[in-house]
Amino acid sequence: EKRYDYLIVGAGLFGSVFAHEMTNRGKKCLVIDKRDHLGGNVYCEEKEGINVHKYGAHIFHTNDKKIWDYVNQFATFNNYINSPLSLSKGKLYNLPFNMNTFYQLWGTKTPQEAKKIIDEQIAQYGVKSPQNLEEQALSLVGKDIYETFIKAYTEKQWGKKATELPAFIIKRLPVRYTYNNNYFNDIYQGIPIGGYNVIINGLLDGVDTKTGVDFFEDRIELESLADKIVYTGKIDEFFGYKHGYLEYRSLRFEHELHDIENYQGNAVVNYNDASYAFTRIIEHKHFEFGKQDKTIITKEYPENWDRSKEAYYPINNSRNQEIFKKYKKESQQLEGVIFGGRLAEYRYYDMHQIIASSLVKVEEISKIKPQ
Ligand code: FAD
Repeated sequence: EKRYDYLIVGAGLFGSVFAHEMTNRGKKCLVIDKRDHLGGNVYCEEKEGINVHKYGAHIFHTNDKKIWDYVNQFATFNNYINSPLSLSKGKLYNLPFNMNTFYQLWGTKTPQEAKKIIDEQIAQYGVKSPQNLEEQALSLVGKDIYETFIKAYTEKQWGKKATELPAFIIKRLPVRYTYNNNYFNDIYQGIPIGGYNVIINGLLDGVDTKTGVDFFEDRIELESLADKIVYTGKIDEFFGYKHGYLEYRSLRFEHELHDIENYQGNAVVNYNDASYAFTRIIEHKHFEFGKQDKTIITKEYPENWDRSKEAYYPINNSRNQEIFKKYKKESQQLEGVIFGGRLAEYRYYDMHQIIASSLVKVEEISKIKPQ
């Protein structure tokens, strides 16, 4: 008789939602994480009374009422609306691309004036079948928007020239002909009051957890504790990298404490030109309308990834997709192990999507009646 029904490897949102739901269904769960805290990438570290988003800025947004109600069981959300600014060539602009941006860029005041410029630039610089990211962007929004906001920023993000990046990275570049700086189009948006840890603690209330435990350092012992495993770590690592490494893009975060109340007046300022190596500065207190005397900012530097670094963004190219397919096939043949979450599925997911996918997984399993 095993002590647990489920050993859940990874205390991120996928694992925490899974543990919560299964505990509610009378199953016994043990959640382990190799990091020294719960929450995975949504974890916030409290400093000077400010919730610092340790693994990058996280803004919750969704169109799905069910997911919104789900997270609201655990935390109250504030009315933060993401309205990033962009600094490029010494000037500040509003994002996402909207009538404010066009006014700041060209002085245009009406949608007709702005649309005329964009259409003319698309006609002048665009091509019929774009072969790389640069051609794709020029075909979607024209030269000025591309050169002011997209070129250097994307090159910093991916560490490659825009002419060497595939066109499919940018599928659409929405432009808005209204004066609306709300970055997301979703109906529901906000930051949990008290930070994301409030949600994680709510999800894991009454669940056994252990931090600082790496599954691979004690695999046999850990596997012996439970009937089934839910694995949310890297899928290639699970199979001992036998089909090769899956590649990622990484990030380096430089946190700074400043002895002033307000550093940049906004939570997110993007640095879109090439004169800065970082892509954005986050000022965490503005996510929660903080009034502290001090402030904490984070500079976000894109980096090449190696196994000593955190894996942030999967690199979606044919090499990695081929390798991933092999691991996926093996994972489907394996009994007793459920693979889920961004690292096991080698996929970028937003928070609302990862919660939805964990809930779907729980439903699928709960439908299968025991023999
Ligand atoms: P994770 O949170 O990564 O959890 C996996 C956990 O497994 C980790 O804690 C890891 O330590 C643990 N683990 C791995 N291997 C082992 C092992 N061998 N043993 C033990 N433990 C192990 N989403 C939004 O909706 N809005 C945003 O604004 C937003 N901003 C983002 C910004 C950045 C920079 C990034 C990278 C992501 C952002 N996201 C955002 C996405 C969000 O972070 C993810 O959707 C979510 O965190 C994924 O949860 P997860 O459980 O799949 O993975």
